[in-house]
Amino acid sequence: MADILVYVPETGKHAAEVLTLGRSLGDVSAIAFDAQSAALASEYGAAKVYRVSAEGADDYFVDPKATVLADVARKTEPAAFLLPSTDEGKALAARLAVDLDNGLLTDVTGLDAEGVAEQDIFAGATITTSKITKGFTLATVKAGATEAEAAPSEPVVEDVEAEVAESDRRVRIAESVVEPAGDRPGLAEADVVVSGGRGVGSADDFALIERVADVLGGAVGASRAATDAGYYPHKFQVGQTGTTVSPQLYVAAGISGAIQHRAGMQTSKLIVAVNKDADAPIFSMADFGVVGDLFEVLPQVLEEAEKRK
Ligand SMILES: Cc1cc2nc3c(=O)[nH]c(=O)nc-3n(C[C@H](O)[C@H](O)[C@H](O)COP(=O)(O)OP(=O)(O)OC[C@H]3O[C@@H](n4cnc5c(N)ncnc54)[C@H](O)[C@@H]3O)c2cc1C
Repeated sequence: MADILVYVPETGKHAAEVLTLGRSLGDVSAIAFDAQSAALASEYGAAKVYRVSAEGADDYFVDPKATVLADVARKTEPAAFLLPSTDEGKALAARLAVDLDNGLLTDVTGLDAEGVAEQDIFAGATITTSKITKGFTLATVKAGATEAEAAPSEPVVEDVEAEVAESDRRVRIAESVVEPAGDRPGLAEADVVVSGGRGVGSADDFALIERVADVLGGAVGASRAATDAGYYPHKFQVGQTGTTVSPQLYVAAGISGAIQHRAGMQTSKLIVAVNKDADAPIFSMADFGVVGDLFEVLPQVLEEAEKRK
């Protein structure tokens, strides 16, 4: 079986998806910098875990971690090295590509054992297939590219002691702020996302979207028109320039379905749209569509959901 390296940064759905994709390609060796990541790697079937301790690495931007990842890649010569397409994953992958003089594919939505990757471009309007011609398959994997499937394993654990080199101390992290998580699930991880668009009409009326999200145990999302109008904070924007979501259920209320919005939610398993315009493009991709005023439709959803609780 081919050796597949996977960088496991955190204990989230996205990292679990990348591990699952890696498993479909060969034997996964995971690289984990903390105990939770190592535990996730074994929950999702890694055959081996490199458990790295690099004192002080977290005080700096990604350079110390990139050095460790490059060293492991040089030592193991993997068939593929996969990282999640997060800001950190892409910053690491870019450094790996330079350090190892290797090709790089970012934001892949599919990958086969031959190293042929799919990428959605032009906000999902076109799918390209590409293969790295210099070096091994080095790729960052977009959230929702595959479904995470647990496969508990008892991996071989190799401890890696690393020191932070002077040359990797270029950017020191002065302060990190962890935002309070709140009661709702994280947008990127949620199984249910209820999003509102310009049709919601005001910040106050987003309370209705929140109530529907809460009754369904989901996260709240918003279109860019809604966040630009100040109806909801920008960090909840779904789409090409916002968060990519892939929940079991995506509810779009008062959202027209512009291509840039679709780019961030089109892999949702079940899409329900509520829009008063029967010709709104969102209906062309919805599994269920309700043509109607969201202020009449959503209260009925709330009432019904409350009854079934
Ligand atoms: C480079 C670039 C990047 C972008 N990135 C993103 C992105 O990441 N995410 C994103 O969302 N957009 C993005 N956009 C913007 C995108 O093109 C659209 O402008 C935006 O998605 C529209 O948001 P909307 O559907 O809420 O608003 P609109 O297009 O104005 O649609 C509002 C909808 O609400 C319906 N409606 C109104 N009132 C009601 C009611 N009472 N009940 C039911 N329905 C009602 C209307 O019929 C309409 O269909 C991007 C654009 C560009 C150029």
